[in-house]
Amino acid sequence: MSHTPAYVYLFGRQRTDGSAAMKNLLGGKGANLAEMCRLGVTVPPGFTVSTEACTVYTQQGRDAALKLIDAEVRAGVAAVEAEMGKRFGNAEDPLLLSVRSGARASMPGMMDTILNLGLNDVAVEGLARKTGNERFAWDSYRRFIQMYGDVVMGLKPASKEEHDPFEVVIDMLKDTRGVKLDTELDAADLKELVARFKALIRARIGRDFPTDPWEQLWGSVSAVFESWNNERARVYRELNDIPEAWGTAVNVQAMVFGNLGDSSATGVAFTRDAGTGEDLFNGEFLVNAQGEDVVAGIRTPQQVTLVGSRRWAELAQVGEAERRAKYPSLEELMPDIYRQLLEAETLLENHFKDMQDLEFTIQEGRLWMLQTRNGKRTGAAMVRIAMEMLAQGMIDEKTALQRVSPDRLNDLLHPIFDAAAMKGASVIARGLPASPGAATGQVVFFADEADDWAKRGKAVILVRQETSPEDLRGMSVAQGILTARGGMTSHAAVVARGMGKCCVSGAGALHVDYKARCFSVGERTWNEGDWISLNGSTGEVYDGRIATKDAELSGDFGKLMALADKYKRLEVRTNADTPEEARVARGFGATGIGLTRTEHMFFEGERIVPMREMILAEDEAGRRRALAKLLPIQRGDFEGLFREMSGLPVTIRLLDPPLHEFVPHDEAGQRQLAQEIGVPVGRIRLRVEELHEFNPMLGHRGCRLGITYPEITEMQTRAILEAALDARAKGAAVKAEIMVPLIGTVREFNAQAKVIRKTAEQVFAERGERIDYMIGTMIETPRAALVADSIGQQAEFFSFGTNDLTQMTMGFSRDDAGKFLPVYLKAGMYEHDPFRSIDQKGVGLLVEQAVKKGKAVRPHLEVGVCGEHGGDPASVAFFHRAGLDYVSCSPFRVPIARLAAAQAALEG
Ligand code: ADP
Ligand code: MG
Ligand code: MG
Repeated sequence: MSHTPAYVYLFGRQRTDGSAAMKNLLGGKGANLAEMCRLGVTVPPGFTVSTEACTVYTQQGRDAALKLIDAEVRAGVAAVEAEMGKRFGNAEDPLLLSVRSGARASMPGMMDTILNLGLNDVAVEGLARKTGNERFAWDSYRRFIQMYGDVVMGLKPASKEEHDPFEVVIDMLKDTRGVKLDTELDAADLKELVARFKALIRARIGRDFPTDPWEQLWGSVSAVFESWNNERARVYRELNDIPEAWGTAVNVQAMVFGNLGDSSATGVAFTRDAGTGEDLFNGEFLVNAQGEDVVAGIRTPQQVTLVGSRRWAELAQVGEAERRAKYPSLEELMPDIYRQLLEAETLLENHFKDMQDLEFTIQEGRLWMLQTRNGKRTGAAMVRIAMEMLAQGMIDEKTALQRVSPDRLNDLLHPIFDAAAMKGASVIARGLPASPGAATGQVVFFADEADDWAKRGKAVILVRQETSPEDLRGMSVAQGILTARGGMTSHAAVVARGMGKCCVSGAGALHVDYKARCFSVGERTWNEGDWISLNGSTGEVYDGRIATKDAELSGDFGKLMALADKYKRLEVRTNADTPEEARVARGFGATGIGLTRTEHMFFEGERIVPMREMILAEDEAGRRRALAKLLPIQRGDFEGLFREMSGLPVTIRLLDPPLHEFVPHDEAGQRQLAQEIGVPVGRIRLRVEELHEFNPMLGHRGCRLGITYPEITEMQTRAILEAALDARAKGAAVKAEIMVPLIGTVREFNAQAKVIRKTAEQVFAERGERIDYMIGTMIETPRAALVADSIGQQAEFFSFGTNDLTQMTMGFSRDDAGKFLPVYLKAGMYEHDPFRSIDQKGVGLLVEQAVKKGKAVRPHLEVGVCGEHGGDPASVAFFHRAGLDYVSCSPFRVPIARLAAAQAALEG
C-alpha cells in the first residue's frame, strides 16, 4: 500500500513512516519511536501527528487543525486497532491509548503524558472482565481521570501553597481507610475515588469529565498543541532561542500495562552509567506499576542488573539475603526478559552511537520499549563516554570532541565530594553556587587567622559577611569561602572563581557574629573551629566534615585535551597574577599569560604600604621614593612569572585601576596608615577626598595614570625588564610583552611607548645586555576599536579588554547592572548577560572591525582577548571566527577554552 502521510506518521510492526532523521517533523520522541520500529525493536504501535499540524493549530486555530488531521488520525487509530486486535471505544475489550508530547528538543513546560485514554464507566467494566483484574481496571481509570483532569481540563492547585487537588482526595480516602500506600487501596476504594474525582471536576471546572473516547482523544491532542504556547513554554523558548515555528508533535500510542500483576513492571535504563560514564548497563524498575511511578519515588525501585543490585545493596546497607528476597534484580527475577532488554540496549546504543536513556514496560511477561534518547550525563561521564566510544571505534575524533560541552568540564576540574560520604549529609543553608567544587574545613572568620590556621596545617573554610581585597590571602589558603551577602559577581565570587576555589555566596540565612566568632542559622550555632562543608556547584552548605576527592586530570580528560589541541587554531593563554596561578594554568595547558594585573600584587600584606605612600606623595620626588620601594617587590613577582612560563609569552599590563581603590576610606584605616607612613591623618583624609571620583570607571585610571605620572610607567618597565634579564640569567626563555591599558588615541600609546623605550635603553645600558620585548595595547574603549588602524601602525599587539569594552559600549557598568539587568534579561531586551557572554552583534562588531583594521596595517599583529569572556565557550567561538590569535582566561577555564576553541574550529 503506497501512501504519503500529510500530517500523521504511523509506527509499528506493519508499517513505519518516520525515522530518526525526521526529528524536525516528528519531534525527538516520535522520530526515535519510528526508528526503533525500523530496527525491529518491540514498540507498542501508534502514530505521530507532526509539528506542522501544531503550526496550523497555532496559526489557524483548533477547528481548522482538527479538521485537517481528522481522516488521518482515524486511519491511524484503525491501524493501531488492527495491530493490537482491539477496538478503540469497545466496551468489552477496549484499546487504550497514551498521548505523549514531543518537541525537537526536550522542553520543560510542555504537556504531561496522558495514559489509559479511552476508558469510561462502561469500558472499565469490560477491561476488568477481560483481564480478570478489577483492581487494575479501576486503578487505570482513576489515573486516567486524574491526568486528564489536570492536563486537559486544567484542574490544578489554585496556588503554590495548595496541594494537588486529586492527591488531597486520595489522602482523605487513605485516611478513612487507615492505609498509607496507594497500593493498599482495593478495587472498591478505587471505584470510590473515580466517583469523587468526577465530582471534583464537575464542582471545580463546571463541566463533566468526558466519557466519549473520541472526545477524550481530540481533547488530549489539542491540549498538547495548546501547551506549545503556554506561558512556561514561551518563556523557555525565548530564553533558549527556540523558534515558535518549530511546534511540537503529538504521539498517540497503544497502551501496554506494567500494572497488570507480578509478571508486569515498568522501568528506565541507561546503556552506560550516566554518573561516571562507566560502560555498564544499568537501570531501575518496579513490579506492578505504571508510567512514572519509578521516578516518582513511591516505592523503592529494584535494579535491572545483578551487578547494579549488589552495588545498590551495599550502599543502602541491605544484606544479600534480604536483597535477593525483597529487591531482586530483573536479571534474577525475569532472566528471559532481561536477556531481551540487554539485546535491545546493545542494538540501540550501537545504532545511535551514543549512550541511550531507555523507558520500558513489561506486560505479563512481554517486553515493550517505550522510548530511547541520548541520555543526559555528568561532565565526568561525558568525557569518559566520548573517549571510550572513540577507543571502541564507535565514533570518530571530531564526534568525540563535539560530544563534550565545554562548560561541563568544570565538574572535572574541581574537587568533588566522595559519593559514599554524601550519604546522610545534612544541608544547613543554601546560597549561590558562586565557584564550583567541594570543600570541607573548620570555620574561621578572619582572613589573617585563616592564614595562621592554614600554616598549622588545618583545613579551613573562611566564613564572612562578605569579602574585600584585604581578605585575598586568607581566601587563597582556605579550602572554601562562604559569605552571607553578595551575588554571583560579588568580590568573593569573582576572586574565588579566579582562584578556582570553592565558594558559596549570599547564603542569606546565615547570621555572622564576628565578635562572638560564630554564625547561626535559625536556632543553631556554629563556632570557630567547627567543621562545615560547601558545594560550590550547587550552593549547598553542609554540617560537619565530608570527605572530598581531587579532580582527575589524566586519563580520559588528558586524551580529550590532546585531541582538542590537535584541532583548535586559537591559542589559549591565562590571566595570572602570581607564579602559583601561572603554574596551575600551565598544568591545564595554557600557552602563555595574556594578562597579568600588576595591581593585584599590591594588595598583599605589607606591600600596600609603599603603594599608599606613592599615592599620597606630595610631589614627584615623593612618588619616586615610594616607587623605589615597590620596584624590587614587582621585579621579584615578574621574575617568578617569567620563570614559571619559560618559553611562553607573558603579557604584563601597566597599572590600571583608579588610585582611590588603594587607600583606606574609613577613619580607623586612615589613622593606622598615618602611623605607618608618618603623615598627619588630616593630610591623608584630604588626599582621599581629592581622589574621590564620580565615575571612577571613567576616571583617572589606565594609561591616564602613566601619562600624568610617567614615573609609575618607568618603575614598572624597569621591574619588568630587569626581571626578564634576571630570569634569563637563571635559564628561562623569556618573552615579555608590555601592555598599555585603556588608550583612546594613538597619541596616548605613543607617549607611553616612548617612556617604556627610554627606560628600557637605560636598563640595558646599566646591565650591559639586551632582551627582546614587545609593546602593545589593550583595546577597551570604543574609540580605540574604531581607530584601530592608526593604533595598529604603532602597537605590536592588541588585547581586547572585553569587560571595559562592554561597559563602555553598552553604557552600563558591571558593578551597577545588577539592579536592572535581571529585569532586562527576563524581558528579552538582551539575549544574555553581556558580561558573561560577549554581545556579538554590538560589542562583537567593534572587535571584528578592530581586528580587520589592525591586521590590515600590520599583517602579523598579535591579537588576543583577556576579558572574562575568554573562558566562555560561545564567546570563544566568536573570537575564533573574528580571527583572533588567542584567548586568555582564568586558569580553571583554560581546558574549557581549549575544547571550545577546538569545537569552533570544527564548525569552521
Ligand atoms: P516524558 O517525556 O515526560 O518522559 P513520556 O511520554 O515518555 O513522558 O511518558 C512518561 C511515561 O509514561 C513513560 O515513561 C511510560 O512509563 C509511560 N507511558 C507512555 N506511553 C505509554 C504507553 N503507550 N504504554 C505504557 N506506558 C506508557
Ligand atoms: Mg517525565
Ligand atoms: Mg519519557
